[in-house]
Amino acid sequence: MTPSTASRGGPDRDRHAHGDARFSFASFWRKVPTPLRWSLAYVVITVLIALASVSWRGNAGGTCAQDGQRIVPEMQVDLQTLDGQWHRFCSIVCARRWLAHRGVDRVQQAIVRDALTGKPLDADVAFFVRSPIVSNPANGNNIHAFQYRTDAADHMRRFGGHEIDPPFFVE
Ligand SMILES: [Zn+2]
Repeated sequence: MTPSTASRGGPDRDRHAHGDARFSFASFWRKVPTPLRWSLAYVVITVLIALASVSWRGNAGGTCAQDGQRIVPEMQVDLQTLDGQWHRFCSIVCARRWLAHRGVDRVQQAIVRDALTGKPLDADVAFFVRSPIVSNPANGNNIHAFQYRTDAADHMRRFGGHEIDPPFFVE
């Protein structure tokens, strides 16, 4: 509310602020030399970006709905069940176990992360490889998602394993 009132300020507001002990951001700002204004604006923007990124991370992280492990954002799996609820997991194996325990075989949406870049991918356009590489020793996750078939093939050439069908049935 303050910035909009301040921007509507003008002479009338100045007269009001004059001799008034209350802090007025607008009159304070007018006294600040221009180079300092830029520095202050820079600091404020930096802080806002940092806060936004912390809250985004907090949102993306959290704990796995299956085994309670802290989720590494680059390996996160998000499932939207048919009731519209989203559930987060630390690995593909955990997401599959969670569904199996509930006797659920289909979901509305499944988002996995590319094993190389951590980029979010729709599970129905990703390529999946089961290989001897275990990405999470605690739950033995050995299923890896790739955005590109060439990356999946490269993984199999280097580490063995085979391509599997998408691990989630998306409606
Ligand atoms: Zn987990």
